[in-house]
Amino acid sequence: MKKNQWFLMMLSAVLLVLAACGDDSGDEQESSGESGDAAGGEDWIENVTLLTGGEAGVYFPLGVAMADIIDSSLDNVSATGVSSGASVSNAEQLNNGEAQLALVQNDIAFYGAEGSNMFSEVLDNYSGVFTIYPETVQLVTLADSGIESVADLEGKRVAIGDMGSGTEANANQIIEAHGMTVDDIDAQYLDFADASTNLQDGNVDAAFVTAGTPTGAIQELSASADVRIVSFDEDAMDSLMEEYTYYTKQDIPADAYDNFDSTASTVAVQAMLIASNDIPEDQMYEMTKAIFDNLDQMANAHVRGEELSLDTAEEGMSIDLHPGVQRYYDEQ
Ligand code: GLU
Repeated sequence: MKKNQWFLMMLSAVLLVLAACGDDSGDEQESSGESGDAAGGEDWIENVTLLTGGEAGVYFPLGVAMADIIDSSLDNVSATGVSSGASVSNAEQLNNGEAQLALVQNDIAFYGAEGSNMFSEVLDNYSGVFTIYPETVQLVTLADSGIESVADLEGKRVAIGDMGSGTEANANQIIEAHGMTVDDIDAQYLDFADASTNLQDGNVDAAFVTAGTPTGAIQELSASADVRIVSFDEDAMDSLMEEYTYYTKQDIPADAYDNFDSTASTVAVQAMLIASNDIPEDQMYEMTKAIFDNLDQMANAHVRGEELSLDTAEEGMSIDLHPGVQRYYDEQ
């Protein structure tokens, strides 16, 4: 009987809600009250999609954590972190209105805003939120592959990231800085997970991975095989940094992975969050605040999440900030 009473109560509650919705639908305009624009500004976007990267990267766990924070902190916003082809395609999709937030590399965000490099037009519908952590360009190979320099990649099967990823862009630029072109290698467009499996199975010889360390895909590989991360030539890094100013030098410490016993000299860019300019200012203010109010959840999702802080949020910021983000920073 108790069950029946509960069922009837729930049924009447549902009917009440339906009746209330029915009233609203009689309005001339779609109700904006539900979108929760408390400040009386523009309508908030209720369904927020946050683009990340492949599931074996660092964007994915951190992006899912950020979406979860927004989702649980703001009553009238439902946010979801989704896997994607990473930086270049994220910037394009955000610009086209297919998503509202995205993790991207700071170099790629800049090229998009400028319409240079891999972008044939200016992407002017996104702006910056914060930078988070360095993304290291890791050229990974098995320890016994015989590949010890970028020059050794000639004629080899090399995974250069997903098509449209920041990794692909970095691989091209780094190969060119070493006096070769992508035509000198047998380039394979693979995400990190597929690159790692194919390295292990002997189907590719090396893989470029631009991501925070430790990167899940490399961790998985190094748990069962001896890996080497190939150092870049000093001169090549200098000319690379001269031409593309968002690269910085970065050493990978020997304890970064299991079965990895040498350090590597390489370069890094910064991971950052970008936001669609379609997001109203007050909504972006609240979403930014929610993330900074829950930094522990970022740290729990991946060790690189520990690096998000108000003190460094604008370091390496390559594009203008979203007005809601700017207001939040100004108030701190
Ligand atoms: N930076 C990478 C890219 O845009 C993705 C990194 C990640 O998934 O953690 O290609």
